Amino acid sequence: MNSSRVILLADMESFYASVEVAENPSLRGKPVVVCGDPERRHGVVLAATKEAKAFGIKTGMTAGECAKLCPNAVYVRPHMHKYIETSLALTRIFEEFTDRISPYSIDEQFLEITGCEKLWGNPETTALRIIDKIWKTMGIRCRIGIGENPLQAKMACDCFAKKNGKGIFRLSHKNYADYTWPLPIRNLFGVGNRMERNLFNIGVRTIRHLALLPRERLKARWGINGEILWLNAHGIDYSTIKPPGGEEHRKGVGHSITLPRDYRRKEEIDTVLLEITEEVCRRTRKFNKVGRVVNVYCRGADFDLPTGFSRQKRLPEPTATTMEVYPFARKIFYEHWDRRPVRTLGVSLTGLMDFKELQLSLLEDKEKKVALSRAMDLIRNRFGITSLFRLSSLTPGGLLFERANKIGGHEA
Ligand SMILES: [Mg+2]
Repeated sequence: MNSSRVILLADMESFYASVEVAENPSLRGKPVVVCGDPERRHGVVLAATKEAKAFGIKTGMTAGECAKLCPNAVYVRPHMHKYIETSLALTRIFEEFTDRISPYSIDEQFLEITGCEKLWGNPETTALRIIDKIWKTMGIRCRIGIGENPLQAKMACDCFAKKNGKGIFRLSHKNYADYTWPLPIRNLFGVGNRMERNLFNIGVRTIRHLALLPRERLKARWGINGEILWLNAHGIDYSTIKPPGGEEHRKGVGHSITLPRDYRRKEEIDTVLLEITEEVCRRTRKFNKVGRVVNVYCRGADFDLPTGFSRQKRLPEPTATTMEVYPFARKIFYEHWDRRPVRTLGVSLTGLMDFKELQLSLLEDKEKKVALSRAMDLIRNRFGITSLFRLSSLTPGGLLFERANKIGGHEA
């Protein structure tokens, strides 16, 4: 394995609140709170600027609690559409630096910049350039964690870059233990409240405590999850997160967004689906490709329940046109959605082919279809209808036959 990869995790500070402030500069420097239903006291805080956080305001609080902490807070209603658009605009900025981008959530994206040193300088310089560019063009503060794999980049960002004022921090296999092991165990990626309690019960308080336990013991106790935590404590990335670059593009182009709150309403879901589909189609077109299959991925809000699905449908014809793909994405979604709140939505186009190839194949198909139907008539006349199936599975024309059936048909 190549150990000298350079991965960045870029995270936006107080994302929703920052987008609101960027759009309305009179809010800059004020304690701004993006809140579900500010008039009602039980509206929930989705984001708060650092000025608001200074009063003790935290995501997840109610408007009522907020008002007590900071009577002068400025409340803004959320504009999801705007946040998704901004998230996609950020991807476009990242694309100026690398084509290997993997969105992690609405305000966090992984970038692989291995081999980009000649273009942008060392990883810290590159991170600085990205931060600067986002600040100047979007008015949003970005923090970047640097690592040799996505896990290290995520830990570098969450545990250090977000807190050090500079907004940049770099972890590597070499310094990982020195920096992360003294931290409380809840700082380890993958440790939630429940796992924190479990680990407390066996005497684990810091990442070091966990790292020094035998891997087998964690595996015996919590299975794969225990093993993953052990790997996380050692800065080893278990995941198969492969930033979609190079080879990946040939297989498919995908995009997913993890929403910070539950989506239940059709209009909201439709908006997000359309946005994601547009992004996927735009990127597919950028590579001069068209896709044959659309995939929709959905994950429920409750991570403890096995909700969600991943389903695909063959398109009547290969395409990368948003309004041709979107109706199918929508169809897949509503056929499989269990009506439970949605947290993550993803769309991808696979079975990619060159646009040029498509143009050629459309021409060829016409000729082949005519030849095929002639042959079919001949055989039907001679041997009866069932013989067609044997023909279709034995001859090279079989593939074509199969495909001819799929065009215009519904292949789930
Ligand atoms: Mg953030």
